[in-house]
Amino acid sequence: MGEVVCRRCGQTRPALAQAPLPGKWGPVIEAQTCADCWQAWVEEQTRLINHERLLPSEPEHRKVLYERMAAFLLLDLEGA
Ligand SMILES: [Zn+2]
Repeated sequence: MGEVVCRRCGQTRPALAQAPLPGKWGPVIEAQTCADCWQAWVEEQTRLINHERLLPSEPEHRKVLYERMAAFLLLDLEGA
């Protein structure tokens, strides 16, 4: 397993084994997020889905979740 300089925690840590999402965000996350911070987002996403009733199947809700994800993980789409 490779390592990544994670934008969220600022540490050099084990990377994800593969892009965790399809589409444009997958490679960005893989290049900029450590496995532990991804897991933290997965838990936060579950909280958002439960508490704010966001439905990943709804395109508008999915857009909100991606925005929250980018802010949570401090992702830089341009810098990928
Ligand atoms: Zn991290």
